[in-house]
Amino acid sequence: MISIAKPYFNKREIDAVTQVLRSGMIAQGEVTKKLENEFKTLCGARYAIATNNGTSALHTALYAVDLRPGDEVITTPFTFIATINSILMIGAKPVFVDIDPRTYNLDPTKIEQVISKKTKAILVVNLYGQPADYNAINAVAKKHNLIVIEDAAQSINASFKKKQSGNLGDIACFSLYATKNVTCGEGGMITTNNSKYYERALLFRNHGQPPNKRYTYADLGYNYRMTDIQSAIALEQLKKINTITKKRQNLARRYDDELNNIQGLVIPFKQNSTSHVFHQYTLRITPKFKINRDTLQSILFKKGIQTVVYYPATLNHFPHIKIVCKIPAMLEVAETASREVLSVPIHPSLTIQELTYITRMIKEI
Ligand SMILES: *Cc1c(COP(=O)(O)O)cnc(C)c1O
Repeated sequence: MISIAKPYFNKREIDAVTQVLRSGMIAQGEVTKKLENEFKTLCGARYAIATNNGTSALHTALYAVDLRPGDEVITTPFTFIATINSILMIGAKPVFVDIDPRTYNLDPTKIEQVISKKTKAILVVNLYGQPADYNAINAVAKKHNLIVIEDAAQSINASFKKKQSGNLGDIACFSLYATKNVTCGEGGMITTNNSKYYERALLFRNHGQPPNKRYTYADLGYNYRMTDIQSAIALEQLKKINTITKKRQNLARRYDDELNNIQGLVIPFKQNSTSHVFHQYTLRITPKFKINRDTLQSILFKKGIQTVVYYPATLNHFPHIKIVCKIPAMLEVAETASREVLSVPIHPSLTIQELTYITRMIKEI
């Protein structure tokens, strides 16, 4: 089976873990500090805070910017559940805006119509590894005094107008989960240029304890700390970030060349002045294609090719989310996308032979 994702590890990650294990210092410590420094450099951000996963990074970031119960957060319904759950964890309310049919990211032209007195922030997802249109989003945010939070879980090393993901809004969150472009199994990272957000995030990650003041509690907090075992893996991964990105982009280019001329099949759209890091290579199977999306998926599965639908439903439909949405939003573009998208394997160790086999199977169908 050609799998949809595969961690890009070698001896370096194994050696790095061994070194931490032998040191006897395995909890959050110097290695995690080093990882945070490397992340800051990569993103061009002033501060970085490691957490134990991307969801806790989001929860921490939303607390750090001082979102409160009842506040409204504008976001996309076409994302992983963690984006929305982090809003609910704060007691805030997600307000959904439809997506751009080409990029699958939040449509900036639809933001203004849902802004209310309670709107405090826009939580933007850079879906599949492509940053949203931050020129337009930041302009609306500035006009209405809203905080822009970047869910950069899928967009490490991507950029928009030469600015790195992690530095496109007021605060950003990354995930280092097993399938993400840079991974250590489970892990997360927050980046920001705002010292107040940084201080609040530091406290929240560690039970409200100020650095070097253990058993003093300045605020509410959780245990969202990273371990040095995981940080050691992530550090090795970061050293390869440009290789990882380039491999994915080269594979995407090959997919584009092979699949750009098939009726009813839409290849990924690349926004101007944006570097797309292809966390996913996502096709759209429209009604003009010979068979429907689900049939294509099951035929490919029988041929030994794993494909995944990211995401099969917009999140406004799920009961715990539905009850907090005051009015059903018009989300037709996202609804259609959820019926038509299909992501094919694009991890860095995918071979050209495998890619050619995948595209040949699609063409034969
Ligand atoms: C993976 C992901 C997250 C959550 O990260 P975890 O590390 O799995 O908690 C959040 N948002 C998006 C868009 C993701 O893809």
